[in-house]
Formats: sequence, C-alpha cells, structure tokens
Amino acid sequence: MPIATIDPTDGRVLKNFDPLTDAQIEERLARAVDGFAALRSATFEQRASWLRAAADILDAERDEIARTMTVEMGKTLPAAKAEVAKCAVACRYYAKNAPAFLADEATDPAAVKARQAYVRYQPLGPVLAVMPWNFPLWQAMRFAAPALMAGNVGLLKHASNVPQTALFMEQLFSRAGFPEGAFQTLLIGSDQVEAVLSDKRVVAATLTGSEGAGRSIAAIAGRELKKTVLELGGSDPFVVLPSADVAKAAAVAVTARCQNNGQSCIAAKRFIVHTDVYDAFAAAFVDRMAALTVGDPMDEKTDVGPLATEQGRTDVEELVQDAKDQGATVLCGGTAPDQPGWWYPPTVVADLTPEMRMYREEVFGPVAGLYRASSYEEAIEIANGTDFGLGSNVWTTDPAEQERAVNDLEAGAVFVNGMVTSYPELPFGGIKTSGYGRELSAQGIREFCNVKTVWVS
Ligand code: NAP
Repeated sequence: MPIATIDPTDGRVLKNFDPLTDAQIEERLARAVDGFAALRSATFEQRASWLRAAADILDAERDEIARTMTVEMGKTLPAAKAEVAKCAVACRYYAKNAPAFLADEATDPAAVKARQAYVRYQPLGPVLAVMPWNFPLWQAMRFAAPALMAGNVGLLKHASNVPQTALFMEQLFSRAGFPEGAFQTLLIGSDQVEAVLSDKRVVAATLTGSEGAGRSIAAIAGRELKKTVLELGGSDPFVVLPSADVAKAAAVAVTARCQNNGQSCIAAKRFIVHTDVYDAFAAAFVDRMAALTVGDPMDEKTDVGPLATEQGRTDVEELVQDAKDQGATVLCGGTAPDQPGWWYPPTVVADLTPEMRMYREEVFGPVAGLYRASSYEEAIEIANGTDFGLGSNVWTTDPAEQERAVNDLEAGAVFVNGMVTSYPELPFGGIKTSGYGRELSAQGIREFCNVKTVWVS
C-alpha cells in the first residue's frame, strides 16, 4: 500500500509520503534506545506531567486533529472529535493511576522464607506498535499512554492511509515534553515490519488489526521470542431475548452496527433474535437502518460516511454478493452507489446459512446479519459459532438469564442491555482468533512490564 492520504469520499490522492529508508530506520532505533534510557530514569510524576500536557494539547487542538482524521479515513467529524476527547481522558487516567498500578506488591515474607519479598514492575524497552486506521488516534493512544507511563518507549507503525495522524502522534508527545526518542512514528510499509521487529533493540510488539497481520507478527515475534499483544478482528453477537426492551435494543443495534461507518472491531455484526421478538425487532431495526443519512463526513448531520479504503469497500461488496448468490434476503441497502469514493449503504441481510461467507467472516462496513433463534440455547450456539471472540451483547431483563449469558458467551467482554464500548478503566481484548493479551486498565499497563520477583534474606 502506498503511504498516502487519499480522500475516501472521492478517491483523490491528497498527499504522498516516502517510506523511511533503512538508514533512517537505524537512526530512529538508536534514538529509541537513548529515549528509553531517559524515560526509564524519569519519575512517575515527571512522566505524568508530560502525559497531562499531551492531554491539554489534545483538548486545545481537538477540532484540527479531528478534521485530519476525517479527511484521511472518512469517519464523521463529531465521531472524530469524540475520539480526540477520549484520548485526552485516557492520558489523564494513566497519568493518575499508573503509579498505583505499578507500585511494588508485597507478599507475606514468612511464607517464602524471606525478610522481605515483593513484586516490582519495570519497563521492557522499545515496543513496536502496529496500528489500524479505523480509530487512528485512539488505537495508538491506548497503547501509548500506558506504555509511556510504564517507562517503555513507542515505535508506531501506523496504517499506510493515515500518515498525517501518525505524524501528529509523534509531534504530540514531543511537544508535551517527553524525552527525544520516547515516541516515534515510523512511516514504513508492512513489508518493513519484519526487519524492525527482528532488531534486537525492539523488545516486544503490539498489533491491532486483521487476523492475517496478527498471524504474521506473531510468527516473527515467536521466532525472535518477543512478547506480543494482539487485538484482532471480531464478529460480535448481539443477542435479543424475549424479555428485552425490543424498541431500545433496535435503536442501540443501529449505533452498535454503524458507528465509525461500520468499521469497528467491537461493532455488533450478527444480530441473533429470539423468534418471539424477531419480527418486532427486525421491523424496527430495518426502518432505522434505512433511515440513516449517508453523506459527507464533514457535515454534522451525516450518520454514515464512506468506507476508508477501496479494498475495504470491495471486501464488503463481495461478502454481501456471496450471501445474495446463495439465497440470503437483503432487507435494506445491499448495493454500492455508482459514484466516486468508497460508499456503501447501511444494509441488513437475513436468512444467512453456514455456507455463506458472511456467516463466518467479519464484515467491516455498515452491514448487519440477522439471525432467528428458536430458544436461548440456539441463540448462544449461533453467538459462539464463530472463530472470533472479541465482544458480545445480550439483551434480557431476566436476572437469571443475564447471569447465564455472562457465563455462556465466549468473548473478551459481555455487555448486558447496552452496546460494547471501551473505557480506560476496563480491560479490552479478545479470545480465540480475536487475539490475546489485554489493553487498558491495570492489565493493559502491565503487559509490557517485567514482573520482577524480589526476595531479600
Ligand atoms: P490490517 O490490514 O491488518 O492493518 C493493520 C495494521 O497492520 C496496519 O498498520 C497495516 O499496515 C499492518 N499490516 C498489515 N499486514 C501486515 C503484515 N503482514 N505484517 C505487518 N504489518 C501488517 O487491518 P485493517 O484492515 O487496517 O483494520 C481492520 C481490522 O482490524 C479488522 O479486522 C478489525 O476488526 C481489526 N481491529 C481490531 C481491533 C481490536 O482491538 N481487536 C481494533 C480495531 C481494528 P499497512 O496499512 O501498511 O498495510
């Protein structure tokens, strides 16, 4: 992929960037080592003051950076502004809580025959972060804020279609006062990742992206024996049971499917509805999906903008076409308009069968699959009948059924009577082919720490 800003509303190339040469990568790796020496010796108070300064810059420049994101990947401007604000919140959260998350943890010395015994969390060094374009600031920030507070330094290989957002990240931390080399953006293609990750100075990697990219990073890291965290794809179930508030579930379902123009890993993608409420849910859901405003993402009235890339739009078209060819029913949308740019309308597809690709694969666009289940058991079976296990939603007002579903759904998160979202306070990550490891919360900041046992006689 070229490293370039391409307007997804019409496909025009707005700005090209040259990938770094080997010599330029070498300079940055050397700088990362120096940056690590400086950052690891800084106190929590110093790191926190720099991270708070970054939050202040984000607040002050929110509208400008939000516009850059909207230009580069097509998310609606209000969504982009909210993303910037959320990044500032995450910075302040880790500035405040990292010292407690990484404080020494004492254990009973008598039990281990010591005078003193405890665990100390220490940073590992330069960590490579390979990131996707869909939440171009948030995905990178939810790695960066805890990493920098722990004393690790970041090397960001961002998606090739968001280079200006990627460069903003590097400038942000530099302007906030972090030592030189603490956070650097590497404008490189995915074919240059192996060399960087194989370099001895890079100690670990985190990737948020597709299953294929995850397998590739994990293979390289496995060979090099380096720690990884992988946040991969998802096809989250949205289970609606008879006791649910169906009208509310249908309204939330539309947001859960179409936020970020349908390109969210934790978007609900499969709507599994009990037969007793299927018709009522389907009617309300389809009405609302069809009523969404598709258009210019800079217009505050727009609900759904274009997809981010031409390839992304082609992937969505092929999945829907495959389902249609095999007998699925399209209840709304289902055909891309004949105009420049990567547009795709909000779409609902019913009567899906296991032979269809949509049944098994992630649809990264505003396309919902609707499934009818004859019982609780069948609903859970469909929900778990996927290789993914990122988020899950269940709608029921019956407390016993809620408790049962919390246990039965195979996923890294279960949201009851609400849509899956992320908060700095809650761990985020998946199971099965959605990846491993966790971001955010105390778990996230400890992923790239040496958990050092200290025993003193
Ligand atoms: P992608 O193609 O995997 O790209 C993600 C990043 O990986 C980009 O920086 C990309 O660089 C790089 N990359 C791709 N192939 C690579 C390889 N073989 N080796 C090294 N780096 C590689 O994913 P995407 O299509 O942009 O993003 C959508 C996917 O991300 C979806 O599956 C979505 O569910 C997932 N996602 C998951 C989470 C989560 O938290 N679990 C969050 C957001 C998105 P280039 O741009 O240069 O190709």
